Amino acid sequence: MIDRLGGFTDGRFFWIEWHFWKVIGWLGNLVFTSRFIIQWIATEKKKRVVVPSAFWWLSLVGTLLLLSYALFGKKDSVFIFAYAFSWIPYIRNLVIHRRHKKAHTACPACANVCAPESNFCSACGAKLPEDSTSAG
Ligand SMILES: [Zn+2]
Repeated sequence: MIDRLGGFTDGRFFWIEWHFWKVIGWLGNLVFTSRFIIQWIATEKKKRVVVPSAFWWLSLVGTLLLLSYALFGKKDSVFIFAYAFSWIPYIRNLVIHRRHKKAHTACPACANVCAPESNFCSACGAKLPEDSTSAG
């Protein structure tokens, strides 16, 4: 079957020879690339540079998919090394993100969620209770 637009042509789709690991690899590319769009949208919304936790989740999932492809599909040491360790900072960032979120204090007067280690509510100015989780 001939398709000049690059459709299904002798087992190829868009000039790519597909098999299971190729699908995993392309899925990894898709997830990995989508994180930049998520980060860009979040930054445009806040008018300052922000990295939402979704960015780190997409980085982690994308890396694991690409690492699987490198290990079992491509079986290439260069690609394996490229994705072998990058998941470590992604997990670390997710842990720090979670801790930071947990460290926020809810104002007892107006229920506004205040930044960690703040003494007064940013919305109503009420004194916040001492943070028992942080030392010193
Ligand atoms: Zn308040």
